[in-house]
Amino acid sequence: MPTVQSLLANCAIDSVDARILLSHLCSTHLGWPRTYLITHHTDELPTALIEHWYELLQKRLLGYPVAYLIGKKSFHDIELQVNAHVLIPRPETELLVEFAISHIESIFNSPNSIFTPASPMLCLDLGTGSGAIILALASYFKKIPEVFHCLNFFASDISLQAIDLAKLNSKNLDLHKNITFFKSNWLTNFPKHLAFDLVLSNPPYIASDDAHLSHGDLRFEPKVALTDGFDGLNAYRLILKSLSHYLNSGAIVVFEHGFEQAVAIQCLLQDHDFIGVLTNKDFSGSNRITFAQSK
Ligand code: GLN
Repeated sequence: MPTVQSLLANCAIDSVDARILLSHLCSTHLGWPRTYLITHHTDELPTALIEHWYELLQKRLLGYPVAYLIGKKSFHDIELQVNAHVLIPRPETELLVEFAISHIESIFNSPNSIFTPASPMLCLDLGTGSGAIILALASYFKKIPEVFHCLNFFASDISLQAIDLAKLNSKNLDLHKNITFFKSNWLTNFPKHLAFDLVLSNPPYIASDDAHLSHGDLRFEPKVALTDGFDGLNAYRLILKSLSHYLNSGAIVVFEHGFEQAVAIQCLLQDHDFIGVLTNKDFSGSNRITFAQSK
């Protein structure tokens, strides 16, 4: 009869992926913690689990992403549910969250911070997908109540399925009372009275003719979250066309982008009168985020 040991031996997929999938199945079918994969590796496994295993194995062999198969992905300090309606959160995007955390901390550490619970700092994630960026940020500051009470969080997406999932993730993290979600094509459906102090976005930035779109996980992710269907810069152009109407003076805008797009995005920000435009590199040394301040 099959056991963890026998299923993992001579398995046709990558051994790390196989362990993640089997650990997920043993957790959902048997309530096992991950360590049981080692300590109970010779236990007989039930037929329903084995059938489910072969089903997942088949899908993985076809290239289906592990995160979609197990329905979750770790990001920064949180775990998110994911499905084929949203991009799988990437480690590079944690840089955007780290930047936002440092920025907020430096504001609240300064003696002349203007934000209070009655007049909070408004933070927005444009194109939130699973909610990764805004939820990681809110989750971090929830542990610092004196700052958390002075922050308001907002997130938008064009996809209703993405908004539904981001809302579910906000509930799972007990942050649903702290985040306002908008279904919106960038800023088109935003209430006119809102003025943000921090805007974060990881928009679709892959050019429509980029070969990466037909490789790996990207084949299974929503096209609308990956490419603008054009040169990879259109989302930034569309956002910047109306963003200044929704910013307080001194607001910070932070964009994630492709490793070859930094100069183009710096120019776009300068063309829209932003100041202090700078780019930071990710952990592999590629230009990854560009930020600027509104006048
Ligand atoms: N970083 C993703 C990738 O290269 C793309 C995400 C995006 O377009 N926003 O796979």
